[in-house]
Amino acid sequence: MSSERVAIDGHELALTNLDKVLYPATGTTKAEVIAYYAEVAQVMLPHLRQRPITRKRYPDGVGDGTEPGGVFFAKNLAEGTPDWVRRYRIEHRSGPNDYPVADDVATLVWLAQLAALELHVPQWRFAADGTPQPPDRLVLDLDPGEGVELGACAEVAGWVGEALAGAGLTAFPVTSGSKGIHLYASLDGSLSTEEASTVAHELANALQAAHPDRVTSVMRRSGRDGKVFLDWSQNNGSKTTVSPYSLRGRERPWVAAPRSWDELSRPGLRQLEFGEVLERLPDGDLLAGLLTRPDRLATYRSLRDGAKTPEPVP
Ligand code: ATP
Ligand code: MN
Ligand code: MN
Repeated sequence: MSSERVAIDGHELALTNLDKVLYPATGTTKAEVIAYYAEVAQVMLPHLRQRPITRKRYPDGVGDGTEPGGVFFAKNLAEGTPDWVRRYRIEHRSGPNDYPVADDVATLVWLAQLAALELHVPQWRFAADGTPQPPDRLVLDLDPGEGVELGACAEVAGWVGEALAGAGLTAFPVTSGSKGIHLYASLDGSLSTEEASTVAHELANALQAAHPDRVTSVMRRSGRDGKVFLDWSQNNGSKTTVSPYSLRGRERPWVAAPRSWDELSRPGLRQLEFGEVLERLPDGDLLAGLLTRPDRLATYRSLRDGAKTPEPVP
């Protein structure tokens, strides 16, 4: 198995098992996974910065789950983590955990070297002193039930996007790289996680009321067939969502890929593989607006409060 020592951002990294196949269906190697993260870093890092990263690791690649190395969610930092990897502590009820944050290419490459194919993050970021800040984005996780095609899920996403727009929020779609779609909207930091969760939950309830045959806001799995479950729960401060631009540990190297509303409405919509995402890099980040345009509080507070008419924006 080939290995290599590289210097990135002034840090020396040992890359090992570079020709190991992590995605048997496509023959995608660890070298390709590392190269993907190094290249996508330019658009991915701004979304990851200062968020604690839960890693889903696939040391022996993706497959049927019987690989000797298994698949596991890693929260705490492993021993041997280089000291230049920045980290913050979260005091869980089960005890403290140190989480890495990624704000440089070297950290992303280090994560890829660990076969951390999936990077999951919450909707909030740490302040420089390690204090969790209020959420800077809202997420709605659209989970298609049995028999629902991605295109039909995208149609529901359009309705959710319109509802968010009615509340003053611009929605940005991401195909999850698995089955469904994630919708993000930027928040200006004036809502607590509880308030953001409430907004998302009420929005999901309103959409179920408007489209009872196509949408459910109820968590239980039964009754989801033929419908899209609008999962509001990932706004909870202790929950995570796979980061935009993360690879997925599915049979093919699909990516949680930002999409335009236009392509979402075209026939034949499908998940994108990493090569397709790299081809789009010259076009820039479709989620750039998520970072530069924190949406105004006044209009969506009215949604939370159930007001019939939006409050005037001061
Ligand atoms: P799909 O499109 O298939 O729904 P998804 O990524 O949206 O893909 P979900 O099952 O809808 O998957 O979302 C569940 C989320 O909960 C995951 O994305 C992950 O962030 C989080 N999660 C699940 N299990 C764990 C765990 N053990 N530790 C940390 N986070 C977890
Ligand atoms: Mn989902
Ligand atoms: Mn879900």
